[in-house]
Amino acid sequence: MGTVNGVVSFWHAQLGPPVKRARLATSTSVDVCIVGAGLTGLWTAYYLKRASPSLSIAVVEREFAGFGASGRNGGWLSAAVAGSLDRYAQRRGVEAARHLQRTMIDAVDEVIRVAHVEGIDADIVKGGVLRVARSSPQLHRLRDSVAAAERWGDPHATLSGEASRARVNVEGAVGASFSVNGARLHPAKLVRGLADVVAASGVVIYESTPVVEIRAHEATTPFGEVRAQFVVRATEGFSAALPGLHRLWLPMNSSMIVTAPLADAVWDEIGWREGETLGDSAHTFMYAQRTADNRIAIGGRGVPYRYGSRTDRRGETAPVTIRELQQVVADFFPALRDVDIEHAWSGVLGVPRDWCASVVFDRATGLAAAGGYVGHGVTATNLAGRTLRDLILGRVSELTQLAWVNWRSRKWEPEPLRWLGVRSLYLAYRAADRSEASGRSDTSRIARVADIISGQ
Ligand SMILES: Cc1cc2nc3c(=O)[nH]c(=O)nc-3n(C[C@H](O)[C@H](O)[C@H](O)COP(=O)(O)OP(=O)(O)OC[C@H]3O[C@@H](n4cnc5c(N)ncnc54)[C@H](O)[C@@H]3O)c2cc1C
Repeated sequence: MGTVNGVVSFWHAQLGPPVKRARLATSTSVDVCIVGAGLTGLWTAYYLKRASPSLSIAVVEREFAGFGASGRNGGWLSAAVAGSLDRYAQRRGVEAARHLQRTMIDAVDEVIRVAHVEGIDADIVKGGVLRVARSSPQLHRLRDSVAAAERWGDPHATLSGEASRARVNVEGAVGASFSVNGARLHPAKLVRGLADVVAASGVVIYESTPVVEIRAHEATTPFGEVRAQFVVRATEGFSAALPGLHRLWLPMNSSMIVTAPLADAVWDEIGWREGETLGDSAHTFMYAQRTADNRIAIGGRGVPYRYGSRTDRRGETAPVTIRELQQVVADFFPALRDVDIEHAWSGVLGVPRDWCASVVFDRATGLAAAGGYVGHGVTATNLAGRTLRDLILGRVSELTQLAWVNWRSRKWEPEPLRWLGVRSLYLAYRAADRSEASGRSDTSRIARVADIISGQ
């Protein structure tokens, strides 16, 4: 059987085409207009409507709910902070950075709680996060990251190679870190389920309705204006296409493949019984999950960035990227060298110049936004949604004091510098991974330089 390429994502394909909601028919006025029906937009709508049922809320979506990264991701519901805690601490103080980490840990349980009370079955299993090291430099970096996580209040256990392989039998694993603060889920089940809950609560979701411009108190579409006291931009990796935002967040691609369901005998060999999410410590890292129907879904960077911030082709993925990810499967699990790859897809995520996510709000213009999660948005979107609720309702809460509120990152360089820079960085990271795999004992100097240039 051939590999299905694109069609948005395997997760959506598994559920069948979504039944599209109506598009905006004519200009309208509401209290809050949210642009984008991914997790950021939907969590914001969910918490606002629950806190203030009389608010009129419209979500305006170009395609359908969950079309973006929210319906395509690796399904890691993790407590990783979307940004550098050191950087947040430098500007906002150490305690503020710690607080952000604590609230992210709590947000993992909050997503699980809401899914449960709202009856959203998203295959959630809180099996923790296992990150393996497969070389000596990777092990050094892993230990450094465990020490850093500890400092910020996110405890991780360190596992020996043997203990790591007893959990998930990754070829060549010499050690691992493990955190209980993580769960695996089915992204499309979560985002579509949340959209249904939000719509049932009285929020109107307009689909097939592109917003072409956002101004104070107004979002413009080809079918009319949505006027509102507050307009929330929740377009993450697609934001560069909106007027004035070209250099705000770089749209970075991430690609995934999924295997056919694997036989029990193969799972006996591999282990992976607890629903852990699995990652590694390479510079061009991989992320994976064992799905509820016993496949491996695995992702990595692919072609990281297209010239001029061009984003999406409905998830279509370059054949070379599919081959590379297939090779990762074979390297990690040699028994799967010839396994069928059923589906490949890609998506875009938003990367700020300093890699720090933000929630921004301006009462005077009514403009708000959240994003820039750099591939850690599944949990962060929930926290952002609750934070936007409090900011819009004028509540002063511990969420409105979070380090990422009204965080400003500088703009990306204009083209062609941006394209050249990002391409070179990823070539450098790949070279560093190759050099480390060939037996050096410390982190490659190429990667250290790339880290400094990229601002990571
Ligand atoms: C392949 C991949 C794997 C990932 N894996 C993980 C993971 O395992 N764990 C994790 O934490 N994070 C992961 N991420 C990141 C995570 O998915 C995102 O951070 C998160 O989903 C962002 O949600 P969002 O709602 O802000 O954006 P999106 O989900 O991208 O939603 C934005 C929405 O806005 C709509 N839109 C855009 N422009 C307009 C417009 N002009 N008018 C109207 N609507 C518009 C889009 O159609 C889209 O539906 C991954 C991302 C990708 C691409």
